Amino acid sequence: MNTLALSLVIPLYNEVENVEALFSALENALQGLEFEAILVDDGSLDGTAEALDAGAQRLGSRYKVIHLQRNFGQTAAMQAGIDAAEGEIIVTLDGDLQNDPVDIPMLVKLLHERDMDVVAGWRKNRQDGLVLRKIPSRIANWLIGSMTGVRLHDYGCTLKAYRANVLKPIRLYGEMHRFIPAWLATQTYTNRIIEVPVRHHPRVAGQSKYGISRTLRVVVDLLFVKFFMRFNQRPMHFFGAIGLLFLLLGTLMLSYLFMLKLFTGADIGGRPMLIGGVLFVIAGFQWLSTGLMGEMLSRVYYESQGKRSYVVRRVVNIDPDRTKCGI
Ligand code: UDP
Ligand code: MG
Repeated sequence: MNTLALSLVIPLYNEVENVEALFSALENALQGLEFEAILVDDGSLDGTAEALDAGAQRLGSRYKVIHLQRNFGQTAAMQAGIDAAEGEIIVTLDGDLQNDPVDIPMLVKLLHERDMDVVAGWRKNRQDGLVLRKIPSRIANWLIGSMTGVRLHDYGCTLKAYRANVLKPIRLYGEMHRFIPAWLATQTYTNRIIEVPVRHHPRVAGQSKYGISRTLRVVVDLLFVKFFMRFNQRPMHFFGAIGLLFLLLGTLMLSYLFMLKLFTGADIGGRPMLIGGVLFVIAGFQWLSTGLMGEMLSRVYYESQGKRSYVVRRVVNIDPDRTKCGI
């Protein structure tokens, strides 16, 4: 029943200083376009909720607000918006104005003209810190690209346009919003994905929600991207990370001993390190497989029965049925 052309999905968590500017930027950029904007308040505690409600009331019903019960994370917030979206095309973007709504018409136009399923934004001129953000994300993009065959320069850019029929069937959880194109390629079998440079601005107000700990988490996620693809796309977390660490440690220890034997001919038989290394390698494999099982289980958990990764508290300008409130 898709009659609407375009739905925007915008996750926001504690962005009160940006909300007003976001509304104006959307109004300016989208003049003359038929659209709905679904603003997902991801459990904000700073007045974002009230600011969104006020804007939606003032500007009319094409601005819709979904308030989540608590902070579920950017991925789940995006999923909530995607679930509620009614447009044939869904454009996702950040709510802090680092993505520029001015690019939206261009993405949509390209999607039509080139008959694509995904037009991904590429922050060619990314305005974020180098060491903590840009370098890890370069490595990440290269890894995802080489492992999935879907080569993008900038997986992490939220600003992307999708056809609803390829985006809606997939389920997002964890930190998966970064991998959507790769996921789509394996889940809804699209290879109609292109990337175009988009604007990117430094954050003018509020704070990034992603510090060093998130960066590390993404790096850990990436280590598992291979499994992640094979077992339907979810990075292993806790057990897998321990397993990998042990495996690495054990392999290093054994390699060291091997080199010692090879190059110096030293007797390595009586060294405690030998048994240590062997134990680490065995334990590493054990943990890894436990992690894999956990991932497969969590997939069953999320994907069977349409289990949701978020809970809706209340909505504005939107039929509550569309968001399956409270499920
Ligand atoms: N965000 C969210 N829930 C979270 C963290 C972030 O909805 O738990 C939103 C945030 O408000 C912003 C977007 O996701 O609109 C991107 O977050 P952020 O700007 O912190 O990421 P960065 O641009 O630093 O990568
Ligand atoms: Mg940002």
